[in-house]
Amino acid sequence: MRSYTQFYIDRKWVDPVTPATADVINPATEDVSGTISLGSVADVDKAVAAARKAFGVWSQSSVAERLELLRGIQAEYANRMQEMGEAVTEEMGAPIALGCGFQAGLGAGHLQTAIEVLENFKFEEQKGAHLIVREPIGVCGLITPWNWPLNQVTVKVFPALATGCTSVLKPPQLAPYSAQILAEIMHKAGTPAGVFNMIQGQGSVIGSALSKHADVDMVSFTGSEPVGIQISKDAADTVKRVGLELGGKSAWIILDDADMAGNVAAATGGMMVNAGQTCSAGSRLLVPRSRLDEAVAAAKAACEGVSVGDPHSDVAMGPVVSKSQWNIIQGYIQKGLDEGATLVSGGLGRPDGLSRGYFVKPTVFACTNDAVIAREEIFGPVLVIIAYDDLDHAVEIANDSVFGLGGYVSGQNRDTAIALARRMRTGAVWVNGGFDFHAPFGGYKHSGNGREWGEAGFHEYLEIKSIIG
Ligand code: NAD
Repeated sequence: MRSYTQFYIDRKWVDPVTPATADVINPATEDVSGTISLGSVADVDKAVAAARKAFGVWSQSSVAERLELLRGIQAEYANRMQEMGEAVTEEMGAPIALGCGFQAGLGAGHLQTAIEVLENFKFEEQKGAHLIVREPIGVCGLITPWNWPLNQVTVKVFPALATGCTSVLKPPQLAPYSAQILAEIMHKAGTPAGVFNMIQGQGSVIGSALSKHADVDMVSFTGSEPVGIQISKDAADTVKRVGLELGGKSAWIILDDADMAGNVAAATGGMMVNAGQTCSAGSRLLVPRSRLDEAVAAAKAACEGVSVGDPHSDVAMGPVVSKSQWNIIQGYIQKGLDEGATLVSGGLGRPDGLSRGYFVKPTVFACTNDAVIAREEIFGPVLVIIAYDDLDHAVEIANDSVFGLGGYVSGQNRDTAIALARRMRTGAVWVNGGFDFHAPFGGYKHSGNGREWGEAGFHEYLEIKSIIG
């Protein structure tokens, strides 16, 4: 059993002002795996005051000082990577190979990227008669979700630190362990007092207090659309900057010249990674109408090949994070059945042989883009296949969504694929795979307004000053 009942404020581990605790549930077993403290507004005030006090000195620190700290954190992160991966598995159910691999690895990647960007970043630029000076925005409230917990924390904490900002992190209540270990890492690496602070607790209390706080200059939020909207409203009275990284319903377009079976298998397998709890997942698979049957058969085979079970074993998919997420996903599967979508594989209930834990059957439907299951973010292992008539139709379907986070194109003709990518109204498009820690990540439309990752992620935390003359 884990017990994380203290917060990290002003380089000290401190008890909450008012004692209150909550259990953390292991989604694979439904048993309590540990306890955290729930903070209050008074804890937020303490953490923000510490961050404000530290900002004066940290904002004036040199690039060399900040690089030295980031490299120290990197050494300590490497020492504890396995431990963090295990924490991710326990808190949100990712298979252990994913938790200790890509989940923890993303954090290491963002740290290395922050170092690379900081080594070369132009904080000052002379342009004609004016000097552009990029200065840290101030005290940042960082609010993160549970699905890729280390990814979302590290993609905020390190750019904030690297640009000279100070921060107060509020990790997700459902998945608090990995962030707690990260705070221990920050401490061990010698992060100065107040530069990084962390409080656990409820979003409606801690997150809301950070959003409203007069002494917080910016809130960076990753999570659901409704909460993003609420945060924007809460932040409005204090005119703070709000960076939003919200949900998605991304289209994966397979072109007629592509290897259909191979790409459908990749898209189906990709959808089931992390039990479908990925904001940029390609949850709508668009295939040429003439090849729909072929695609459906390939998706069925791929889906049936996805192993589900104990995340400590060698499975492709663990449970979803919580009972409430399980219920929401079941509701969408029922909705798909009710609205007449064709069930290709999976369906309601737990996979055979699993009687405990929030396990969902990997599920594929074939439907049209007006189905609710094609329009709303399910945030579970549910893929929909949609037929298109020609490339214009494919683009029309892809863009017919309130979201605009990601997109995917698979096809042999690179020019056609890139031309299609240009027409997609999304913050990123992956053409025939690929991955780059330096590529900006964020959404159009209701998927948000921020850009994280790489150099773009630094600009989120910087003000621009012109010195003219
Ligand atoms: P959520 O919005 O419920 O919670 C996210 C965080 O906000 C949590 O820490 C929560 O405690 C906090 N919160 C809740 N209410 C709050 C309030 N009133 N004020 C301030 N903070 C509050 O989201 P979730 O269920 O944790 O995560 C899933 C969602 O996150 C999905 O919609 C997913 O698409 C999205 N997401 C987006 C990205 C991206 O980069 N665009 C990445 C991952 C997840």
